[in-house]
Amino acid sequence: MKYLDEYRDSSLARPLVEALKTSVTKPLRIMEVCGSHTMAIFRNGIRSILPRGMELISGPGCPVCVTSSAHMDAFISMADEPGVRLAIFGDLFRVPGSNGSLAEASSRGAKVNIVYSPMDGLEIARKNPDEHVVFLGVGFETTTPTIAATILAAKNQQITNFTVFSTQKTMLPPMRALLDDPNLKIDGLICPGHVSSIIGSSVWEPLADEYGLACVVGGFETADLLKSLILLARQVGEGRPRVENVYPRAVSPEGNLRARQMVEEIFEPADMEWRGLGILPGSGLKIRDKYCEFDAESRFDIRLQAVEEPKGCKCGEILKGICSPRECPLFDSRCTPANPIGPCMVSSEGTCAAYYKYGRE
Ligand code: SF4
Ligand code: SF4
Repeated sequence: MKYLDEYRDSSLARPLVEALKTSVTKPLRIMEVCGSHTMAIFRNGIRSILPRGMELISGPGCPVCVTSSAHMDAFISMADEPGVRLAIFGDLFRVPGSNGSLAEASSRGAKVNIVYSPMDGLEIARKNPDEHVVFLGVGFETTTPTIAATILAAKNQQITNFTVFSTQKTMLPPMRALLDDPNLKIDGLICPGHVSSIIGSSVWEPLADEYGLACVVGGFETADLLKSLILLARQVGEGRPRVENVYPRAVSPEGNLRARQMVEEIFEPADMEWRGLGILPGSGLKIRDKYCEFDAESRFDIRLQAVEEPKGCKCGEILKGICSPRECPLFDSRCTPANPIGPCMVSSEGTCAAYYKYGRE
């Protein structure tokens, strides 16, 4: 387990916890953008050892949580189409739309397969030529390259009963939208490690320059997270915000050029609706016209309907970092993982799910 054990070693963590205490010289609020960071921070007990003056806020970094109810409804109506089979990542299964979930559609006979990769969806299409398989592309820059590779494979193998419904999103536009909101006051970001492995650490530089924001790209082990917090506190203390990378074993300044080229070949930027943030220009990725035979939205002429978010649910404010799950009146009462009202309680990376699992008082 080289490259992991040394980051999990508790004897390594102790001096880092001490260093963290002395690195905080003024009050600061840090946002962890990524849902996996939120989970890892809770799992490793990092919230309980935060020094006085340092506050952690969870951001919009879970692709399931930021999927709008309008998109969920469109997914469910696709599942109800005769002859259509959906291939989805598991976290989507129980997310409520305005009228039920994919789980409920499945129990009334809709064909929904949970897959681990878009290639699994393509394989299902190959084995079921009488059906049309739609893969639901719900993710950030981390998953887009594998979807692009799958579309290229479908084209090469001339598989004509496979499409992708892309709600793929990119991280910089929502971060700008959040930082432009005067209600959110943050001093630094733990930048998402997996996303950065594709797009590179240097893409965060404009945020550091324009918003005076300390930025550290972090991994997911205890030592990664503690080092990220130490560097963020030092940057804020010195008044010298910039981008630093404590995850060089996965992230380079320029990212994964091959993956980025493949994404560029298949996708183009498009306006995209985000739960809680509305429609953000250029924040999504749609399939280029050149590959439109693999675009479910154009093949099935899908139109999104305006939908209200679940009554009482504060997922929108939680995704914006202006509300914590404990401030939602439904948290741990009407809304639990067994009976989720909003996606933040369903997704394995959701902030409400993390608070429910590790942060209940
Ligand atoms: S896609 Fe990856 S980097 Fe982005 S929020 Fe999820 S785990 Fe984090
Ligand atoms: S606790 Fe449930 S209802 Fe409240 S914000 Fe979270 S997911 Fe939504």
